[in-house]
Amino acid sequence: MTPESIPPICVWLKRDLRVADHPALAEGVARARGGAVFAVFLYEPEVLAQPERDASHAAFERECLIDLEAALRSLGIRLVTRRGEAVAMFEQLRRETGFQLLVAHEETGTGVTYARDRRVRRWAREAGVEFLELPQTGVVRRLRSRNGWNRLWEARMEASRAVVPRSAGRGGLPSIARLATVGLLDCRGLGLPADTKDRQRGGERAAGEVLDDFVSRRGRHYSGGISSPLSAATSCSRLSPYLAFGAVSMRTVWQASEARRREVQASLLTATSPRERADLKAWQRSLKAVQSRLHWHCHFMQKLEDEPAIELHNMLRAADGLREAEVCPERLAAWQVGRTGYPLVDACMRSLVATGWLTFRMRALVVSFASYSLWLHWRPTGLFLARQFLDFEPGIHWSQLQMQSGTTGINTLRIYNPTKQAVEQDPRGVFIRRWVPELAGVPPAYVHMPWTMPVDVQRASGCVIGSDYPPPIVDHALAVREAKRRLAVVRNDHAARSEARGVAERHGSRRDRRGAMQQDPVRRTLGSGGTEIRKRKAAAADDRQQWLPFHAPDVPTTPSPGTEGDAP
Ligand SMILES: Cc1cc2nc3c(=O)[nH]c(=O)nc-3n(C[C@H](O)[C@H](O)[C@H](O)COP(=O)(O)OP(=O)(O)OC[C@H]3O[C@@H](n4cnc5c(N)ncnc54)[C@H](O)[C@@H]3O)c2cc1C
Repeated sequence: MTPESIPPICVWLKRDLRVADHPALAEGVARARGGAVFAVFLYEPEVLAQPERDASHAAFERECLIDLEAALRSLGIRLVTRRGEAVAMFEQLRRETGFQLLVAHEETGTGVTYARDRRVRRWAREAGVEFLELPQTGVVRRLRSRNGWNRLWEARMEASRAVVPRSAGRGGLPSIARLATVGLLDCRGLGLPADTKDRQRGGERAAGEVLDDFVSRRGRHYSGGISSPLSAATSCSRLSPYLAFGAVSMRTVWQASEARRREVQASLLTATSPRERADLKAWQRSLKAVQSRLHWHCHFMQKLEDEPAIELHNMLRAADGLREAEVCPERLAAWQVGRTGYPLVDACMRSLVATGWLTFRMRALVVSFASYSLWLHWRPTGLFLARQFLDFEPGIHWSQLQMQSGTTGINTLRIYNPTKQAVEQDPRGVFIRRWVPELAGVPPAYVHMPWTMPVDVQRASGCVIGSDYPPPIVDHALAVREAKRRLAVVRNDHAARSEARGVAERHGSRRDRRGAMQQDPVRRTLGSGGTEIRKRKAAAADDRQQWLPFHAPDVPTTPSPGTEGDAP
């Protein structure tokens, strides 16, 4: 066999749009042995038509592909794009190039991509093509039990990064050079409306810059700065869209944070000035907090990997029927456009639609408001949010939606009071006024509860309730009382409690060894201090921000990490 006649290797790029630390590309080049390697990205009609997709996703993806095409070229790998159904496209490419090995990453995606991957696997078997899928995060495929998962996650994060060498193979090069490509399609080319979001830029280079900036500068303010919408945009890492599209690997982010943590730790040993020590301590707290969240990323994705049905069905099936029949279109519409009459909820929704991002606590607030105050089912609200979140990641998204809606059976319920949150997180109404200009002239005393303004103040401030800005769509206190009553029916049901035990066994976080516990998001509740901390937390949640113990006390699990998702 001459080198030219050796079949090339095909690497299928999906949500791994980078070259650094890319196990599938590295494996493709390693396995080439004289054959060339080419990369394929598919514009699949069924994927593009998913109700979670937005033009902003397509535009961000294109920016990633622009970087990627150039980086691949410098590695001697051609990027070919095609538009069509995956199996049909791969069969066509196989005939054109004769490839016998297809390498991809293990995607934890939606039902559509899950079914598509199964079809590709079947096709590959029948066509005699080896289809190799490799992990790219801490998510473990075919996981038998959550016991020991933390250790697996850490081992993956601590492993060496997958370096992609330059492809020197020549086999199949002429056929690769002849391959037709549809290029890098923009929104118009994909038949989508224009992307109107004022959002983060895509690409591996941008991902690297955001990561560097975070670990060297912004990360100092992570702890304490991530809850308020005033500080969160700069205090948070802002890495989520890059992780979702694979423009940076989870391992790269983890290792960068770990390198910085070690550096800070070493500096603390020698630092003497109180100011410098305080600064380093702040860094230490922040890095610890962000590392927990990197862990949660995969912890939540693992739930969808283990049980794909949670994209569509309640994790606790005993919660079926709670909200399904009651989705009120007017309430849904008011929530979507930010006209509920609750200023912080409205400001968050409008800012999200405009920018594609919200910090965790504000995401939890808008979902809590939709699920408890408006009694909307998590699926329609979740689909709308998925379109708005530039970082839409199915495993995190649907797990969080269910968790914030009380349908998992294993999490402490957290019902946010929108007014209390507004007072705490935006005391002077700066964020509110920025996104709800109707309230710009409202005096500070009323900006969190504009419906309490006397009529003459309404007129003087240019904000008449009912014409310029809506009155509250529901009475939050009454609505929450009713929500609690309905949830109590499920909560007190014996069969539901027993089902919750199964959910905990399958999806609950574990604390199986000391090292793992240190990375365990619920580690602060461990040991002798755990009960005390839990008590203090419960006391801090006053009557207006309700906590409801959902499952029976004997359920053998700890609250899942997300319940403490915005703990500073
Ligand atoms: C209802 C709801 C839906 C969500 N949907 C998504 C989603 O589709 N995609 C997504 O990436 N995140 C989602 N999150 C989690 C979280 O809000 C975002 O990851 C975070 O706000 C992204 O900003 P950041 O990158 O600056 O995060 P940082 O606070 O800087 O955190 C760093 C990284 O840790 C991970 N992370 C942070 N918080 C969480 C969390 N609570 N659960 C899991 N991983 C976390 C993310 O990968 C994030 O990029 C959702 C949260 C809620 C309440």
